[in-house]
Amino acid sequence: MRIGQMFYHTLKEVPKEAQIPSHQLMFRAGMIQQLSSGVYNYLPLALKSIRKIENIIRDELSKRECQEVLLPVVQPAELWKESGRWDFYGAELLRFKDRKENDFCLGPTHEEVVTDMVRKVLKSYRQLPWNIFQIQTKFRDEVRPRFGLMRGREFIMKDGYSFDIDEESSKETYNKMYEAYQAIFKRTGVQFRAVEAVTGNIGGSMSHEFQVLAKSGEDLIMSCVNCDYAANVEIASSVYEKATVEKKFYLDVTDIHTPGQKTIDEVSAFLEKDSHSFIKSLVYIIDEEPVLVLIRGDKDLNEAKLMTYFGANSVELADDIVIEQISGTVAGFVGPVGLKKNIKIVADYSVYGQANMITGANRNEYHIVNVNPERDFEASVVDDFGFVASGDRCPRCRGVLEDYRGIEVGQVFSLGIKYSKSMNCTFLDKDGKEQLAVMGCYGIGVGRTMAAAIEQNHDENGIIWPISIAPYEVVVLPLQMNSEEVVAAGESIYAELKELGADVALDDREERAGFKFKDADLIGYPLQVIIGRKSLDKGVVEVKIRKSGEKFEVLIQNVFQFVQKYISDEKE
Ligand code: ATP
Ligand code: MG
Repeated sequence: MRIGQMFYHTLKEVPKEAQIPSHQLMFRAGMIQQLSSGVYNYLPLALKSIRKIENIIRDELSKRECQEVLLPVVQPAELWKESGRWDFYGAELLRFKDRKENDFCLGPTHEEVVTDMVRKVLKSYRQLPWNIFQIQTKFRDEVRPRFGLMRGREFIMKDGYSFDIDEESSKETYNKMYEAYQAIFKRTGVQFRAVEAVTGNIGGSMSHEFQVLAKSGEDLIMSCVNCDYAANVEIASSVYEKATVEKKFYLDVTDIHTPGQKTIDEVSAFLEKDSHSFIKSLVYIIDEEPVLVLIRGDKDLNEAKLMTYFGANSVELADDIVIEQISGTVAGFVGPVGLKKNIKIVADYSVYGQANMITGANRNEYHIVNVNPERDFEASVVDDFGFVASGDRCPRCRGVLEDYRGIEVGQVFSLGIKYSKSMNCTFLDKDGKEQLAVMGCYGIGVGRTMAAAIEQNHDENGIIWPISIAPYEVVVLPLQMNSEEVVAAGESIYAELKELGADVALDDREERAGFKFKDADLIGYPLQVIIGRKSLDKGVVEVKIRKSGEKFEVLIQNVFQFVQKYISDEKE
């Protein structure tokens, strides 16, 4: 491509909502324009990179017998009502009516549509397994669209769905997709980790996320320094066991006046005790049943774990009225000893293993000290309900867990029969008996992957593309446009590289050398072939490697060889 003819502009100023490097750099390099909050125009440079990511995905998936389809963005409400998600999905689902008052939505994901497509043709076990994917625009009315393509409302996703005859073969498909994702992300050139993940409102029983490691990542990942355990903090666990303290250390329970001291921080400062001497007591409503949840004062409760443990649809903190009915006091002074109304007590492991803890007294402005589990209260459930923190121990090998920030670029789920059951997607097995198809689903955020690659690979001058997803692999920079010789050399090297199949751009603009260098660094072409009058006299050009800043003198006749070798070494 001739840059002089490219639909392209660079910007010096970036809008202030662009807070993270990838967002700023995509604006500055003229890759995207915002049309509306979380909705973007993809300009040619962005789309070139996106197409390369898509082609890597297509290549790895077709190698594994996956088939591409293209399904509609507009989806009828009936399907979502059948699966039960019309009521459940919430405000992220953008709903509208057509002229006949029929309900529709813009697809945030395609389980319903694909299950419907499959059930129309699935008859026999002989047809399975099927593994179907598409690369398509999704719409999710995100509460806080931000970070550019990282969290848009309209975005490009690869979504895939598998249909198997039973759990066992579905598990095999899952493993195959897990392995395909490893191959895909490796080829995009990003540094990533696969981590255990919660299934969220897609549903299902097992899941992994693919996380690109980056400071600005919205996700927190816990990873063991010793073994390969890695999990999103939403699901991560640590070595946990119910420890007991010898009873001889137990002291007598005593009330203590704590006027106005409601939070753990306040009481802990007031009593000059560390937060880990406290038991935090929280009244929750789990699927309509009030429950008292206990966790040590220095730890945070992980509601997702409560949800999973109870297989609940909703887990919410109780309001003031319910708290008063149960405890006779207000939040902050609630505790497990002497509740007004007996409710189920659920405790995190952290509550055990220490003696003489402090809790609310179920009386306004009072706490009690020297509370000991088992002597003073009995929890009916004791399990792992807290967020793991850095320094906690690995649940597999007891190694130390460290935290990292990550950007979720992909996720694989094993769905089981969640959708095939609600939508009646069945087949006849070997014995002629009707069975439900066992499903999996597999997503990749294509735009997010591009953004994450920039987030991970840039410097103060601009983007440093991994070669396989760079919009162009190489740029030719004739420096003196008033020199016929330089212009001619530029043209001929450009023509040769193009002819031999390199993905090349030519900066044929009548601009100064400094200007061209700045742009080339900003856009991040992995290689710059620099043509200057002086070096031409020696029959050489300079090739700069964007990543390392190294420069090589290369004979004109060897430029293609050099470029080709660099590209193939980088792709390895
Ligand atoms: P998140 O937790 O970040 O909201 P998700 O878990 O809801 O994402 P999935 O349903 O797993 O997302 O979607 C598959 C992939 O689509 C994600 O791994 C992510 O890369 C991408 N994706 C999801 N939401 C967005 C978005 N708002 N903008 C861009 N990409 C997105
Ligand atoms: Mg996800």
